[in-house]
Amino acid sequence: MEQPDRLVVSGITKTFRRDGKEIIALQKVNFSVKEGRFVSIIGPSGCGKSTLFHIIAGLLRPTAGQVLANGQDIVGRAGTVGYMLQKDMLLPWRSILDNIILGLEIRGVPRMESVKRALPLMAQYGLNGFEKSYPYELSGGMRQRAALLRTLLYDRHIMLLDEPFGALDAQTRLHMQNWLLEIWQDFKKTILFVTHDIDEAVYLSDDIYVFSPRPGRIQAKLEVPIPRPRSPEDMTSPQFAVLKHQLLELLFSGAPSAADIG
Ligand code: ADP
Ligand code: MG
Repeated sequence: MEQPDRLVVSGITKTFRRDGKEIIALQKVNFSVKEGRFVSIIGPSGCGKSTLFHIIAGLLRPTAGQVLANGQDIVGRAGTVGYMLQKDMLLPWRSILDNIILGLEIRGVPRMESVKRALPLMAQYGLNGFEKSYPYELSGGMRQRAALLRTLLYDRHIMLLDEPFGALDAQTRLHMQNWLLEIWQDFKKTILFVTHDIDEAVYLSDDIYVFSPRPGRIQAKLEVPIPRPRSPEDMTSPQFAVLKHQLLELLFSGAPSAADIG
């Protein structure tokens, strides 16, 4: 049986005004995400990916269009989806544990209960013993883990992750990608993931939307039929190379010409 749509984005346009000039960040973006899918959005810097996430998260109103989560209009309503911002945004004055339970605190869950839920997750996902540490004491990979666990504990069906591994070295990144796949499978989340890394998009996703340069529009949708569970060896398969090639072509065909850049 086909899964229902968890998220429907229709006709989303966003225009910003800056110094009297109009910037069209997104233009008529339409797509939907089925329950339990892992969907990536890939596109050049400045094409409106983070803007789209702010809109879906209810933090920013679109100029036009609609966002439905589980059939309900969520435009301008924060709190329906879990959202990990492009920067890890751990609060430097809070311990790792207190950072991880922040979302529960905001939702009014008593501290005792929050801690009871957070500790096993921290132990299971490699943050055992770091409960009382502060963000500056952790490596980049561990900080990203903490930020992701915070998003996970917020406990929404849909999770938006905006370039969560962008700043990590290649090896840590691969580690984190596998870890994210594990979490996604364990918790049966629906994930919307922004990246500018082609390998990452292919390795993680069921579907990939390619965005055009600004104004961001969906230029193409690609399905990734590589079976799961996936492992790093998949990245050297001919099938992987074909998908990568297709994505590269799409990204370059949408690239601005030299005249536009100049
Ligand atoms: P991406 O995440 O794809 O790199 P963004 O969504 O951050 O792109 O930005 C898309 C475009 O919208 C950029 O040109 C950016 O400068 C512009 N933009 C984003 N937020 C604002 C804002 N609050 N005011 C004016 N322009 C903005
Ligand atoms: Mg961005």
